Amino acid sequence: MQFYSESLTEYKRLATKEVKIGDLLLGNCHPIRVQTMTTTDTMDTMATVEQSIRCIEAGAELVRITAPSKNEAANLRNIKSELRKRGYTTPLVADIHFTPNAAEVAARLVEKVRVNPGNYIDKKKFELLEYSDADYAEEIDRIRDRFTPLIKICKEYGTAMRIGTNHGSLSDRIMSRYGDTPIGMVESAMEFLRIARNETYHNIVLSMKASNPQVMVQAYRLLVKMMFDEFGECYPLHLGVTEAGDGEDGRVKSAIGIGTLLEDGLGDTVRVSLTEDPELEIPVCRDLVKRYEKVPAITTSGQGREAGIKETAFEMPSIAGSNLSYDPFHYQRRDTFAVDNIGSRHVPVVIADMSKIEKITPLHLQSVGYTYDEATDKWNIGDAAADYIFTGHAELDFALPGTLKVITWPHHWQAAGDKTKYFPIYEARGYLEAETKSDAVNFVMLDCFNDETPLHGFTYLDELANDRTVVFCLSSKHPHTMAAVRRMFIELIERKIANPVILITDSNWQTADEHLIHFATETGALLLDGFGDGICLGLTVKSYGHLASSFEQVNASGRNYLCNQTTEQFINNTAFSILQATRTRISKTEYISCPSCGRTLFDLQETTAKIRSRTNHLKGVKIAIMGCIVNGPGEMADADFGYVGSGPGKITLYKGKEVIKRNVNSEVAVDELINLLKESDAWITPQSEVL
Ligand code: SF4
Repeated sequence: MQFYSESLTEYKRLATKEVKIGDLLLGNCHPIRVQTMTTTDTMDTMATVEQSIRCIEAGAELVRITAPSKNEAANLRNIKSELRKRGYTTPLVADIHFTPNAAEVAARLVEKVRVNPGNYIDKKKFELLEYSDADYAEEIDRIRDRFTPLIKICKEYGTAMRIGTNHGSLSDRIMSRYGDTPIGMVESAMEFLRIARNETYHNIVLSMKASNPQVMVQAYRLLVKMMFDEFGECYPLHLGVTEAGDGEDGRVKSAIGIGTLLEDGLGDTVRVSLTEDPELEIPVCRDLVKRYEKVPAITTSGQGREAGIKETAFEMPSIAGSNLSYDPFHYQRRDTFAVDNIGSRHVPVVIADMSKIEKITPLHLQSVGYTYDEATDKWNIGDAAADYIFTGHAELDFALPGTLKVITWPHHWQAAGDKTKYFPIYEARGYLEAETKSDAVNFVMLDCFNDETPLHGFTYLDELANDRTVVFCLSSKHPHTMAAVRRMFIELIERKIANPVILITDSNWQTADEHLIHFATETGALLLDGFGDGICLGLTVKSYGHLASSFEQVNASGRNYLCNQTTEQFINNTAFSILQATRTRISKTEYISCPSCGRTLFDLQETTAKIRSRTNHLKGVKIAIMGCIVNGPGEMADADFGYVGSGPGKITLYKGKEVIKRNVNSEVAVDELINLLKESDAWITPQSEVL
């Protein structure tokens, strides 16, 4: 193990313990399983069966169903029997929060139970209580007494278990000692895991979910490290970002959290939590997982993740020593100096690649956030407006918006009139040999570990180091691309090179969904570790042609999150969504909405759409929309405002963790939320109402 994975430079699945869920084997490098959860009322047997079948037909290998009380737990028997009668043998998982009695019923009926250690058994007041060591130990004893019967049932019936920690619902005990931190999440699961191991029960999977991908990634890494440190082995990991939301944002957030871990070989099963019908989660899971499928379970040294590309790639130098030059368990942005508006304390910039457009007109800039108003002869600049465009071409024949700058090839740059708006981009050697350079900003491309010199990329580093006009543009064609670029960052830190860096990421996947997953995974993983002062996303020429038809497919399937976008718009929006999800640059309202389940007492998809339509102009405001409070006010603490189901037709409104209005009638609850935003000075009148 290296820090928290098998290797940070070579793709290898982490070999975890093997777990049996019905006939399904999970962990120990078995294929990464995909799963989802039903949203129907568990007491409605036929609706749950029908929805489970839709999920199974879409590819779900496990289906989870909520069991809030003994009644729902008992009804799992009917659901399972109807499914088996219809020929579906997919293992079922009971989702348990507060009721050990329900868990003990369900564990006798279905193949797996999920318990949330923050909710199971623990009495919780959401208060910061003082715990002496004796109080703490006493609570652990109480948990042991109440948890052990469930373990015994699972052992007897061959039932698997997931100990599923959620960032928002840690116990008062954990909160008092660790706060709602990644280490607190890990300890919450470890308390339960130690009890299970003492009973020699090992059919266990673990998860560490949070709606913030950064917290979630750090928690999983810590969990792996702690399991190895304490037990010398690791239980399988179920990966997920909770309350990821819907549409493009939900997919991007999920891909950043889940994809970052998969890149390092962590993860045995994935669930993407979208506020959409559960069967729509499965293609997203598949897009995430298939990126690793050509890889043998454990690769031999030097073997890439796509064997066919291996010959063109070079091995990265492994990371020497037992210390990393950055901390993968805590976020800290890499120290850089500023070159113009790039690096240091500036938010990461977005560079839009418009080089494939032959003649760029003002209309094209609309796709990247700039709208020209002929009547006033002014540009309107959107919140998601690119900072630079890469044209590659000669100077544009119209005046640019004030905040926009252009990157072009050196010979075009030399001919450009306005050197405060136009900047050149060079290959490394070209820059060193160039006679004319910008005295403000020079972009210099480095292709990491994909050339005839194994240490290519390192070759020019010392000559370019700390040139105050140079912004590095890092990319790689190595099959393990993210790791190759990360390896270069490690080298930069070790050599004390503080030039800012743009992450250049190309995609040669085909559909819009695949591009989204690719961009979010490749760049999100680096941004979460504090690497990158800007991003530039691009499509290979091959994938450009496919994208239009991909949008059509999206429309035809009734999903509208990508409709009516140009390719440039799609890429620009994706770039800003990635920065938003990594919390490195906030440009829009953030929605933390749960996927809904049998506990939900209102239509979450419809309500989310309604709230979004009235608040999506509130840049930077985080709004949680939850079917119920099981994931706790902890997630509300991450959000600025919360809209949470509290009973049939009733909603409770939160500001941070604090309840502001209890049991509001759902018919007026969205209006009341808007009033709360207004009272809290978080409201801005939408532009459409100002005019
Ligand atoms: S927060 Fe949403 S998905 Fe989670 S248990 Fe409540 S209703 Fe179900």
